[in-house]
Amino acid sequence: MPGTALSARDDISDKSLVRSFAYVNGKWCAGVTGETFTVTDPANGAQLGEVASLTADQSRAAVDAAQAAFDHWAGLLPQERSAILRRWFDLLGAHREDLARIMVLEQGKPLSEALGEIDYAAGFLEFYAEESKRPNIEGVTSHLPDAEVELWREPVGVVALITPWNFPSAMLTRKAAAALAAGCTVVAHPSAETPFSALALAELAERAGVPAGVFNVITGDGATVTGPWTEDPRVRALSFTGSTEVGKLLYRQSAQTVKKLVLELGGHAPVVIFECADLETAVEETMKAKFATSGQDCLGANRIYVQRPVYDAFLEKFSEATGQLTLGNGMDDPDIGPLIHERAVQRQEAQVADALEKGARLVCGGKRREAGSLFYQPTVLVDVPDTALIMREETFGPIAAILPFDTEDEVVARANDSEYGLVAYLHAHDPRRIYRVSRALQYGMVAVNRTKVTGAPIPFGGTKQSGLGREGARLGMEEFTEVKYVCRDWA
Ligand code: NAD
Repeated sequence: MPGTALSARDDISDKSLVRSFAYVNGKWCAGVTGETFTVTDPANGAQLGEVASLTADQSRAAVDAAQAAFDHWAGLLPQERSAILRRWFDLLGAHREDLARIMVLEQGKPLSEALGEIDYAAGFLEFYAEESKRPNIEGVTSHLPDAEVELWREPVGVVALITPWNFPSAMLTRKAAAALAAGCTVVAHPSAETPFSALALAELAERAGVPAGVFNVITGDGATVTGPWTEDPRVRALSFTGSTEVGKLLYRQSAQTVKKLVLELGGHAPVVIFECADLETAVEETMKAKFATSGQDCLGANRIYVQRPVYDAFLEKFSEATGQLTLGNGMDDPDIGPLIHERAVQRQEAQVADALEKGARLVCGGKRREAGSLFYQPTVLVDVPDTALIMREETFGPIAAILPFDTEDEVVARANDSEYGLVAYLHAHDPRRIYRVSRALQYGMVAVNRTKVTGAPIPFGGTKQSGLGREGARLGMEEFTEVKYVCRDWA
């Protein structure tokens, strides 16, 4: 469906943020074949613009540029890199509204959530601008009587960053700010659903003074443009956020050149609500854990376990709140926007049909808003058997499965019965129970009596097939460094 191109919209005040070429070595580049791909607004199918599809050779050339820029960038004083990151942070603040609107149009999320994501994305630039100035040398107790031992943290070199469509700005700055602060140079690939957000960030990076070749954004088909990176020995680390399936593929491909890897993959979060919990808080926080980003969040609640004495009360309050959620175009700031594409809607339909066939019961929702649209009604399912697809596979949409449990041991076993291990949510009042269950949950993050677990100073990441490594915090920067051990004798 034709619509107003992003570059012609009145509500985007700085039109030069809307870029349709890739950003390589400080220049905006079309694909050499002239090929492009279309980006559409998931709320209405309107065409937002065409973006350049780069070839594998062009993607390789971006690594040449990043390699050539490395010595200069790594050789800057930490405070010089810090100043550039800080300027980039300031520019995100100055262009917050435009960046959020670009995101809403291509991604579909409600405007207030998009504004929140820009703040979250900017937070990584601010945090790593500071962190880059912290000492990167550590003294170690010597193993010899007359020698000094030090550990130096050095940038690994060129790093490849691959990001998904659900948080198109924050997933990029979470990686890029840490890598640049460590002294690495970057080749980045954004999802084909949401390239405009990444390209707008590249425009601001240039204005902030990031030198040519240090930060490159390569648009096009994922396999085509990232294949040359996984096989290139000059790319020393790869940081990927996306599906477990593609993460495993990149893991295998990276084995050939033994890269450092950070993999932030899928999740299947359990929520465990004990009878001692504050029920109002549990309902409110679980609504956020389920329905933020229209349910398209790796942290999204997939299985909600409620202890039997409070099960009926929780179900009633949660279903009532779900029934009141508004659906609409993200620009009107509803509670829930559209899903990203037709495949996502079909996954909701398949999981609901499968659960109903296996004996589940629908409390509310359960359909698309209307034929052909990408809006799916917020949905509550009960009596879902453990064999249902929704109990194993990521839903990535607004469907809540609510299940009763009796004992602590039982619910811990059920919550841990997943190949994923990203985040688990726990609601309880008894401190001993909170301690025991937090210890027993096999997840990288446990949120107690609240939902928000993200933020620049927080080490974000999962266990099992939810991934490897951590992003955010000091740890996130260390993923892009190598430790060099130096033993110094005074001859
Ligand atoms: P995806 O795996 O389909 O795509 C992610 C990125 O990989 C995109 O840039 C895409 O272009 C690229 N890609 C796709 N196929 C590729 C291939 N064959 N080779 C190389 N690159 C390829 O994921 P998505 O649909 O964009 O995002 C949703 C997924 O991301 C969900 O599973 C979600 O849980 C996960 N996610 C995880 C986190 C986290 O921090 N753990 C955060 C957000 C999203």
